[in-house]
Amino acid sequence: MNKPAIEGGTPVRTNRISYGHQFIDEDDIKAVEAVLRSDFLTCGPEIDKLEKKLCDITGAKYAVLCANGTAALHIACLSAGVGEGDEVITTPITFAASANCALYCGAKPVFADINEETYNLDPDEAEKKVTSKTKAIIPVDYTGQAAELKRFRQIADKHNLVFIEDAAHSIGTVYDGKNVGSIADMTTFSFHPVKTVTGGEGGAVLTNNEEYYKKLLLFRAHGITRDPSMMERESDGPWYYEQVALSTNYRMTDMQAALINSQLNKLKRFSDRRKEIVSKYNEAFSKMPELFVQKEIPESDSTRHLYILRIKPEMLSIDRAKFFEAMSAEGIGCNVHYIPVYRHPYYEHLGYKKGLCPKAEKLYSEIMSIPLYPAMTDKDVDDVIEAVTKIVDYYRK
Ligand SMILES: *Cc1c(COP(=O)(O)O)cnc(C)c1O
Repeated sequence: MNKPAIEGGTPVRTNRISYGHQFIDEDDIKAVEAVLRSDFLTCGPEIDKLEKKLCDITGAKYAVLCANGTAALHIACLSAGVGEGDEVITTPITFAASANCALYCGAKPVFADINEETYNLDPDEAEKKVTSKTKAIIPVDYTGQAAELKRFRQIADKHNLVFIEDAAHSIGTVYDGKNVGSIADMTTFSFHPVKTVTGGEGGAVLTNNEEYYKKLLLFRAHGITRDPSMMERESDGPWYYEQVALSTNYRMTDMQAALINSQLNKLKRFSDRRKEIVSKYNEAFSKMPELFVQKEIPESDSTRHLYILRIKPEMLSIDRAKFFEAMSAEGIGCNVHYIPVYRHPYYEHLGYKKGLCPKAEKLYSEIMSIPLYPAMTDKDVDDVIEAVTKIVDYYRK
């Protein structure tokens, strides 16, 4: 039998591959360079252009760019009126920012368990957590697969909640014929380099609601407005503006916007290649009973940001940690998305306890994210499959 590298065998690769990587071409570089030679490094035409482009791509009426996906979640919560004493329901299987945004506003994040097959927030579990204090619900399109958006819409309407979709993973995903970005009350994107489209850093909030749109603009920039309809006093003159709320500087630069504008021209290409790699992985891994393949809901035509390799530890003689190390020894870089948010020490100190969401905790103990990005060659994809196959074959019980 082919010995895994961790047992002294020959590794599949000597030049290591990482779990994610940006794709930057000459067009992207030229787009950023052009901004550097222009008059505006911030608040310039690239911002307007990108906001319009995001509306065109998603079908949303309004887009507000901001510094990053974390800022997007923060200003979405502020615009939703989330504040002291409120509760916000979200999933534990996400990046900490999806829950931290409630804390920034003085509210309490409430975690509901996931669906064990799709790994997304379970709408029934989420609805059980609704109380008179619940103000907003934030499902995450984990890995790029849309959450059960119709169910979350119903739950939000029934209990009078603001529905914020954390779509940091899912730009390009279509749910039931509609693009992610035009479905929830507010949808947030991230343009971090591991995400499908990047600006180095960057974020956006999309909405169809004019009231939210005006508030998002306000909270993006200090709580300062030049819009007379939002002011408390009469104008003193053409220079006049008012600070009517407290926020911070969450603006994006034009260099970032230009890069994202250029990257979005490749969204279809990125999305197609990601889908191609996902189906190759699915085909290979669904043949191995020792692995569980993430289930896709039929409504979601997903542009996948992450591929989750999930092991069934009871069928292998090694656990996830050893599997992860074995992959690394083969030259395949992996990561784990995510440690359930409430298991972090900060949340533990706030009183959240182990055992709160058992399905999420089980998932966390069985997963690793394997390489998925558009620049992967077919050989790269085959190497990942070869490494997984070798490890499963060797440690099969
Ligand atoms: C990346 C990410 C964020 C935060 O985005 P940044 O741009 O890194 O601030 C929020 N939510 C999820 C699910 C993410 O993956």
